[in-house]
Amino acid sequence: MNDDISIARARTDTTGGYDRVVAFIREQLSSRRLQIGDRLLPERELASVLGVSRPVVREALRALSAIGVVDIRPGHGTVVSRPDFSTLADFFSLALAQEPNAVDDVMEVRIAIERHAVRLACRRASESDLTRLTQVFDRIVATLDDVMAGWRADFDFHSALVSAARSPTLSSVYTAISDLLERSHQERREHIRNVEGINAFIIDHHAKLLNAILERDETAADQLLVEHFLIGAEFRRKASLTTASAAQKIDPKTTPSAPTDSQPVTQSAS
Ligand SMILES: [Zn+2]
Repeated sequence: MNDDISIARARTDTTGGYDRVVAFIREQLSSRRLQIGDRLLPERELASVLGVSRPVVREALRALSAIGVVDIRPGHGTVVSRPDFSTLADFFSLALAQEPNAVDDVMEVRIAIERHAVRLACRRASESDLTRLTQVFDRIVATLDDVMAGWRADFDFHSALVSAARSPTLSSVYTAISDLLERSHQERREHIRNVEGINAFIIDHHAKLLNAILERDETAADQLLVEHFLIGAEFRRKASLTTASAAQKIDPKTTPSAPTDSQPVTQSAS
C-alpha cells in the first residue's frame, strides 16, 4: 500500500478528487490488496494519503456504497462488500426510462442472453437447477388464469433458465435488466391474455423447453427458445388485430390503427 500512497501523494489535486478515490479503491480491489470484508482506511487517513478533502472521500464512499461495492457501517468504518448486481436494475430502468422503445430494445438483449444461457444450462445445470426449473414450470401451470401471478411465474422460469447456465456475469447482466424484463412480461401477458390458444401455448411450450433442458439437448432447447419468442410475437400480433377490430366496432369511423399493426413483433415472447 505504501507505493500507492506515494503515487497518490505525488499527484496534484487540481481535478478529479472523487475519481482519485474511486481509482485508488479499484486498484486496491483488482490487486487483491483489498478483499471482501476488509476495512478501508479511516476517512481522515484516506483523505490525507490521496491528497483530497474529507468531504470528497465521503462523497466517493457514498457513491461506492450506493452500488454495493462498500458498506458504510457507522461506528465501525467502511468495509468492502460483495457487489449486488440488482442495484444495476435500478440504474438501467432509470437510464432507459426516457427511451420510448426501452422495453423492445431490452428484449433483444434478453433473447441474446437466454439463447446462450439455455445452451450453457444444458451443459452445466445442476440437479437443484433442474428441480427449480421444474418447480417454476409447475407454477406456470398453476397460475395460468391469474395474469399477475402468471407473468411472474413466466419471468421466474426464464430467470431460472439463466441461473442454470452457471455464468455469474451472464446472470448479473440479466439481473441488471430485470426491472425492464418484468415490465415487459407483465405488459405482454396482459396484452395477449384473451387470444385464442394462448393458454395451451404457455403450457405446451414451456413444457417442451423444460424437457429439452432436462434431456440436456442444447440444439433442441435453443431452437425451442427461438420458437418461443416467435410464437409469442405472433400472439401479440393477433392481440393487436383483435384490439383494432374491437375499436372499429365501437366507432365505425375508426380505421385500424397503423401503429398498432406495425408494432415490432419479433421481440415479443412469453
Ligand atoms: Zn416464457
